[in-house]
Amino acid sequence: MYDYQLEDKLQLRKRIAPEYVHVIHHGISFCAVGSDGVRITMESALTARDRVGVQDFVLLENFTSEAAFIENLRKRFKENLIYTYIGSVLVSVNPYKDLEIYTKNHMERYRGVNFYEVSPHIYAVADNSYRSMRTERRDQCILISGESGAGKTEASKKILQYYAITCPASDQVQTVKDRLLQSNPVLEAFGNAKTLRNDNSSRFGKYMDIQFDFKGAPVGGHILNYLLEKSRVVHQNHGERNFHIFYQLIEGGEEDLLRRLGLEKNPQQYQYLVKGNCPKVSSINDRSDWKVVRKALTVIGFNDDEVEELLNIIASVLHLGNIQFGGEDSGIAYITTDTQIKYLSRLISPLNLEQAASARDALSKAVYGRTFTWLVNKINDSLAFKDESYKNPSVIGLLDIYGFEVFQHNRFSTFCTCLTVVLSSEMAIKDAVMFHAVSQWEPVQYFNNKIICDLVEEKFKGIISILDEECLRPGDASDITFLEKLEDTVGGHAHLTTHKLADGKTRKVMGREEFRLLHYAGEVNYNVNGFLDKNNDLLFRNLKEVMCMSENTILTQCFDRVELKDNKRPETAATQFKNSLAKLMEILMSKEPSYVRCIKPNDAKQAGRFDEVLIRHQVKYLGLMENLRVRRAGFAYRRRYEIFLQRYKSLCPETWPTWEGKQVDGVSTLVKHLGYKPEEYKLGRSKIFIRFPKTLFATEDALET
Ligand code: ATP
Ligand code: MG
Repeated sequence: MYDYQLEDKLQLRKRIAPEYVHVIHHGISFCAVGSDGVRITMESALTARDRVGVQDFVLLENFTSEAAFIENLRKRFKENLIYTYIGSVLVSVNPYKDLEIYTKNHMERYRGVNFYEVSPHIYAVADNSYRSMRTERRDQCILISGESGAGKTEASKKILQYYAITCPASDQVQTVKDRLLQSNPVLEAFGNAKTLRNDNSSRFGKYMDIQFDFKGAPVGGHILNYLLEKSRVVHQNHGERNFHIFYQLIEGGEEDLLRRLGLEKNPQQYQYLVKGNCPKVSSINDRSDWKVVRKALTVIGFNDDEVEELLNIIASVLHLGNIQFGGEDSGIAYITTDTQIKYLSRLISPLNLEQAASARDALSKAVYGRTFTWLVNKINDSLAFKDESYKNPSVIGLLDIYGFEVFQHNRFSTFCTCLTVVLSSEMAIKDAVMFHAVSQWEPVQYFNNKIICDLVEEKFKGIISILDEECLRPGDASDITFLEKLEDTVGGHAHLTTHKLADGKTRKVMGREEFRLLHYAGEVNYNVNGFLDKNNDLLFRNLKEVMCMSENTILTQCFDRVELKDNKRPETAATQFKNSLAKLMEILMSKEPSYVRCIKPNDAKQAGRFDEVLIRHQVKYLGLMENLRVRRAGFAYRRRYEIFLQRYKSLCPETWPTWEGKQVDGVSTLVKHLGYKPEEYKLGRSKIFIRFPKTLFATEDALET
C-alpha cells in the first residue's frame, strides 16, 4: 500500500522525537528538519531520539523492561519533556518548575491536531476529549491519578484553562468561563493545605463536570466533592498546616474585618493553627492569596454579606479552638476561657475534660465540614446551566483523585482513600479488559482487584459492613472488638491479616492493633484506633440544636431542623463514602475515559531531581507496565465505524462518496482496499480496533497525499 517515500516518512515519524525533529514534505520525498529549521540526516535524527527518548512508550523496543521504561522517562525529564504517552494515556512527571509550555501559542498548536503530530502534552488530551465529544457526541471524562504532590490538581487546572481559552465564547459564556476558573482558588483556599508532601495538597476529592452547548462553548459546570479531611481543622501533624483560608484571612484580612471578627493578626494565637508549628511556608504568600480568593468569591457571585457570614464561621472555628476547659479534680468540665460563646456552657454538665475537648473539636469539624459542602453547593448554583430550552449539554468530566498516601501507621482516613483507589482502578481495569478481549496474542495478567473490592465492601461480611455493625452495637463495642470481628469473619482471606493471624515474620512488623490489607500497590497496615469514632462521626444533639438556632444564615442551612426530628441513625462515614463513590463510578462508566497518570520525581519538591526508587514505585502502583503491555497487545487505537468511514471513505472507490450498506461492511471494504492485514485490526460491535499506530498513521498520510 505505501510507497517507499511514505514508508520512509513513517519510519522517521515513528523513530524520532517531534520536539526536536520535524518531518517535512520535500517534493516527492521527505526529510528531517531540526527545531532550528536546518535539515538533518536520518542519522542525526536518530541521535536526537537517543538523547530525548521516545514520545510514546509503545515505541520502546524493549517494552517489557521496567528499566527501559524508567530510562526513557529519565531522558525526557532531563530535557524538560515531562509528558510521554502510553498509546493515548498521558504520563506526566512533575517538573517542580515553571516551563514555558502553557502559553496561548502552545494551546493553538494542539487545537484540532492528532496525537502523533505534535509532542505529548496535557493540551493534547484536553483537545482530544473535546473533539471526541463534539464529533462522536459522546460524554467524556479525564481521570487524573497519582500520589500526593504528583501534579494532579495542576493538570486539571491546565485542562480547564485550555477550554476556557480555546472554546468559542459569547459574553454569557465568558461569565461561565470566569466562574469555572475562579472556583479553583476558592475551593483550594478551603480544601487545600500545606502537608509534608505538598505545599498545596488537596484534602478532598473532586469531580467536576464541564457542560458544553451544541456550538462547543462551555455553558455550565457542576462539582462533586468527596471526604474532606475534617480532622485537619483541629489537628495538624508536625510541619503541616490547617486549611489555607485560616492563614489567608489572618494575614490578608483588612483591619476592619478582623476587628469585626474578633481576630488577631497572628496565627500563633490560635490553638487550631499551632499544632504543626508551621505558620509560614516559603512557597505560599497568604496575603496575596487572600486577595485572589476574595476577588474570586465576588466573581462566583457572593455578595458582601454572604462573604462576611462565611468568614464569621471561619473565625468562630478559631475561637472555638481556643476554648479551654477546667475541672480536672471534680471530674466535670467547665469552660475556663472567658468567652462570649454561651452555647458552649451546655457542654458542662455530663462531660469530663477529655470528653468536653473532644465534643468541642467535633463541633469545629462539623461546622467546617458542612460549611465546605455549603460552599460547593453555592458554587454549583453559580455554575448551573440555566438555559431551559437546551436540555442536554455535552459533558467533559475531570476527576482529581486523592493522592494515595501510605504512612507507616495508617488510620481511618487512609483506609477511605485506599477505597477510592480500589474502586477507580477497577474502572481502569475494566477498560483494559476490553482491550484484552480483542487481543489474541498476548495474555495480560491483571491483579484481580475484585477480590479486594469484595473484601472491603461486600454486604454483611465486607470490612465496612463489619465496622458499621460494631458502630451500631450497644455495649462494649470498641476498636479492638472491631478488630476481633474482622479476625472471626474474614480472618481466612488471602488479602487480610492481623497480628494474631500473621506468621512469625509478618508479626514482627505489625502492631497488635493493626490489620493489613494487600492492595494493588502493595501491603498497607491500618491501625484500628479511632475507626469507630471516625466512622460514627457523631455530634452531640444539643450542639446540633444550638447550631440550628444560629443567626448565621449559612449555618442554619448547614444544620437543618429536619435532621433533629429524624431519629434515624445517620449513615456511617464509610458507608456514605462507599455509596457516593459507587455513584461516581456510575457517572464515569457512562462516559468515554481518558487517563492522565502523574508521577512525582522526588520527595524534596525540587526541580531536576529524578529519584529512581521513588519513581519505580509509582510506575508499579500506577500499573504503567501493565498499561503498556495492554496497549501493545490490545489494539490501542479505536474508532467508531461511522467516524472511521466518514474520515477515510475518500480513499476507496467503493465507499466514496457514500456507503449504502451496513457500516461495519463499509469499514471492512475500506480497510481491505487500504491493504490492512488481518492481524492488524479487529472489527468490534461499534468500533474498529487497530493494533499499531503506524497503520493509522499510514491511513492518515494517505489522506494528505
Ligand atoms: P495532592 O494529592 O496532594 O493534592 P497533587 O497531585 O494535586 O497533590 P499538585 O498540587 O497538582 O499535586 O502539584 C504539587 C506542586 O507541584 C504544585 O503546587 C506545583 O508547584 C508543582 N507542579 C505540579 N505540576 C506542575 C507543572 N506542570 N509545572 C510546574 N509545576 C508543577
Ligand atoms: Mg491536588
